[in-house]
Amino acid sequence: MPSTFNPELVEAPIGHWIGNKFITGQPGIELHRPSDGTSYASCPVGSAETVDHAVSTAKKALQTSGWGTCRPRERTEAMQRWADMIVADAEKIGQLESLSSSRPISQSVSVDVAVTAEQIRFFAEMADKEGGDVIPTDGNHLGMVLSEPYGVVGAITPWNVPVSMAGWKIGPALAAGNAIVLKPSELTPFSTLYIAQLAVKAGIPAGIVNIVLGDGLTTGASLIAHPDIAKVSFTGSTIAGAAIMKTIASTQIKPMTLELGGKSPQVVFSSADLNVAARCIARSILLNAGQTCVAGTRVIVDKRVSAEFVTLLSAAMTSYRAGATWDEATDYSPVISERQLSRIESIVDAAVFEGAEAIIGGKRMDRKGYFYEPTILSNVEKDSPALVEEIFGPVITVQTFEAEEEAFALSDHPTYGLAAGVFSKDLQQALRAVKRIEAGTVWVNRYGRSRDHILPTGGYKASGIGKDLGREAYKSNRRQKSVLIEI
Ligand code: NAD
Repeated sequence: MPSTFNPELVEAPIGHWIGNKFITGQPGIELHRPSDGTSYASCPVGSAETVDHAVSTAKKALQTSGWGTCRPRERTEAMQRWADMIVADAEKIGQLESLSSSRPISQSVSVDVAVTAEQIRFFAEMADKEGGDVIPTDGNHLGMVLSEPYGVVGAITPWNVPVSMAGWKIGPALAAGNAIVLKPSELTPFSTLYIAQLAVKAGIPAGIVNIVLGDGLTTGASLIAHPDIAKVSFTGSTIAGAAIMKTIASTQIKPMTLELGGKSPQVVFSSADLNVAARCIARSILLNAGQTCVAGTRVIVDKRVSAEFVTLLSAAMTSYRAGATWDEATDYSPVISERQLSRIESIVDAAVFEGAEAIIGGKRMDRKGYFYEPTILSNVEKDSPALVEEIFGPVITVQTFEAEEEAFALSDHPTYGLAAGVFSKDLQQALRAVKRIEAGTVWVNRYGRSRDHILPTGGYKASGIGKDLGREAYKSNRRQKSVLIEI
């Protein structure tokens, strides 16, 4: 069990990690601990020159180390050693994660760091198992599809689960034989920097994993526009994803994977086990205080059971313990920043002003740090930002339906399609819902990923392009070359 730690005593070195070196930059973005608002560090903002240095280091490392051309099992073994080192240092990485992000220490060590190591192992095992193909052609030809790495992948990650987002990007890129330059969120750089250093200690050649620090507009934009970045992998908001598409279109066409925002529905039918549904839905919206891309924020419940269900949901949502991320007893997080707290507040206040009812919550918590109360809103206007926009906070809306088709129509979001939950004991009804709902993932009688990393994740509609995790993530880090040989 990870234990409470003193944030003042955590050593958190900061600088760009390029090759096998830390390069400290000028102080840039002031960082505040979400749990108490204390200013504790500053994140440098990498310039176009810093990015260029990182990309050329990665390119050179690929040429000199043979990472992309070696016996694939060598990549597997180096990545397995890396995962072992991550597990061995889980407590330290968890502390770095819980210092800067909103992840409580009890979850960052046993879930985020553990899952990151598992995912690295999962992708490592693909290096010598996924390949090209021999194609049926006429007898005078031999047709093949070769599968090859891209070269240097440019990745950008968000702040909400920083270490596992880094694992999602670095794992498949490396296993597939690429080098990577990754820009973590400017708010949460530490855990990513730490695991990048471990990669070199594990025997992954220096320069294959590089981390540049900075904001989106300077560092992020320079990274994706760099001519030697052959593929872009991004996780973040839909607005930033659209800006990235524009930058790529206006500089150099290159493939990209975009994992973006969501506003996921959870449909509760009358036959559902309401206790299970309430527990799963509460957890989905309170995990990381609603700051997960797949947070199930829109409850759509059969009118006949809605009163009973809302009572159960309210009870489940008020049983969490808010506290500092460094306290082992905490299972309810702060939100990431004062800015994000004010945004949640203004969306909820506007909904209430328009006539919505806050069944529970509806305001910030009266304590230090950026905490917002678990909130359930009903009677929300259909075009209210509370119902349409991704809030990225602990706020759930409740709508009711009478007929199945009405439930499906309510579940449709005009732009997002990341994930959805369905709660029903009627198998046929659940399957109709699975087929009908437009989302990249549908969970039935549960909500949230398991540790089966083979299931890909990614959005429909404006929630993204392409997939992370699964075989799809590995394949999207390789390109295909058709070969036809005249015999
Ligand atoms: P964000 O879009 O503000 O920032 C994400 C990253 O992109 C950061 O590193 C940021 O510096 C960078 N960035 C921002 N603008 C950029 C630009 N124009 N060019 C290049 N880089 C840019 O998102 P956030 O607030 O850090 O994270 C929350 C968002 O991430 C939510 O919308 C959430 O749904 C999404 N998310 C999606 C998934 C998924 O798998 N679909 C997973 C986690 C988070």
